[in-house]
Amino acid sequence: MATDEEKAKRAVIQAAKELVKKGLVARTWGNISARISDTQFVITPSGLSYDTLTEDKVVTVNIRDVSYEGHVKPSSEAGIHADVYKLRPSVGAVIHTHQKAASVISVCPEGLLIESEKEKALLGDMAPCTAYGMPGTKKLRKAVRKTVSDYPKSRGFLLPRHGALLVSSDLETAFLEAEALESAAEKKYHSMVREGDSVRKRPPELTKELYIRIRRGCGANHVIYTGEVATLFFSKKGEKLSPWLDDLSQIAGVNIGRCDISDVKSMVRELRHKNAVFIKGYGALCTGNTKEDALAVKTILEKGCMAALYGEKASAARPLNSIDARIQRFVYRYKYSSGAYNR
Ligand SMILES: [Zn+2]
Repeated sequence: MATDEEKAKRAVIQAAKELVKKGLVARTWGNISARISDTQFVITPSGLSYDTLTEDKVVTVNIRDVSYEGHVKPSSEAGIHADVYKLRPSVGAVIHTHQKAASVISVCPEGLLIESEKEKALLGDMAPCTAYGMPGTKKLRKAVRKTVSDYPKSRGFLLPRHGALLVSSDLETAFLEAEALESAAEKKYHSMVREGDSVRKRPPELTKELYIRIRRGCGANHVIYTGEVATLFFSKKGEKLSPWLDDLSQIAGVNIGRCDISDVKSMVRELRHKNAVFIKGYGALCTGNTKEDALAVKTILEKGCMAALYGEKASAARPLNSIDARIQRFVYRYKYSSGAYNR
């Protein structure tokens, strides 16, 4: 017979795969935990892919002091999960996502009023936004602890310029909460931003030869084009893309520039230190060492463009400060090169 701990580990693995499948995280970022007793919970590990996650890689952590059993390191946000279990004895599961719309509206510190009755039943009347802290830091942990105590009836929280946290009786309900939060956040976004609806096909000027020149010039194995609606809209504007979100700074780069479609030299120059560049009026190019890397950059760039469009409309919204953004880019590149890239 499986113990409660084994059952909880299996449920966490299932949920981690579900999180990737549902697009609530790009690649393996985000983390999931389930309580197994008054004193312990199990959580996804730090730095390991969710595709190949096995029970021995899911970590059992003590709620009191975040100490853990075995040699596998728990998610760097394990302290946040521990605090939630401590503050809310009825909570049995916690998930942290980088879901698109909720991350986008998290650039504004006001939080999100939940309006539909169905969403209120899952989330409470409000999804408050915590204060900012860089991922994996004590500052973020403290900020989340404060907001979770200040809003005892809320079950969805926005982590500014980063993502969301859902707390629930069980994992299944936590997913329903994530979906309800996403739907409420989408409504909020579309009430503020009109980016048009035309999705551009890859421009004919981006020939195979040009891709080869770009790949050779910047040293990336994969270059992909995006003409997604927010990215296309942003590419028509005159500015660089400020670091609105943590994952944008980490995996795409800080202050992503814009070049003319005929100016391949400038594109290559931008892509030597960043993983994306805008093409004036056409969308953007994203690079990566693997196709999955390039696709992750694409997803995150599209989300970053939405955040910038939303941030311009919401007067209280601010991008990340450039020092925090640059530190994150540096740490990500260092960690990525050592193979540890999830949180
Ligand atoms: Zn995160």
